[in-house]
Amino acid sequence: MSDMEDLYQEIILDHNKRPRNFRLLEHPTHHAEGNNPMCGDEIEVYARVEDGRLAELSFQGQGCAISRASASLLTEQLTGKTVEEAHAAVADVLDLMRDADRTVDFMNDGEIAALTGVRKFPARIKCATLAWHALEAALNGEEAISTEG
Ligand code: ZN
Repeated sequence: MSDMEDLYQEIILDHNKRPRNFRLLEHPTHHAEGNNPMCGDEIEVYARVEDGRLAELSFQGQGCAISRASASLLTEQLTGKTVEEAHAAVADVLDLMRDADRTVDFMNDGEIAALTGVRKFPARIKCATLAWHALEAALNGEEAISTEG
């Protein structure tokens, strides 16, 4: 295992053990539940949008280490961003997970790069993208998404 893979795994384990913004958000403006029946992940994403920005983000629910770590990373990365930036970030992460040849750089992309460690386990990609799909659904006014179908 390379040093980067070690680092990526460490980031995932850390976010799973100490998930950031893991709480109910009072008075969210947007909220959606993401279900990944293949793994049993159920992640709820909450957002409070103020003046076009994601003033607060949080998540709740249960799931595997990857789905929890990914949701935790999402709340950390996107708090304070504009709604447009959030849409772009979701598209970028989905693209990143689909395209195994795309490289990311820890220095430029930050902890999000850790998610690429999952790409060699295709069954877990849905775990890694669940929270991002859920946020996108929430921002689009939908209440739930499922990775099935
Ligand atoms: Zn999972």
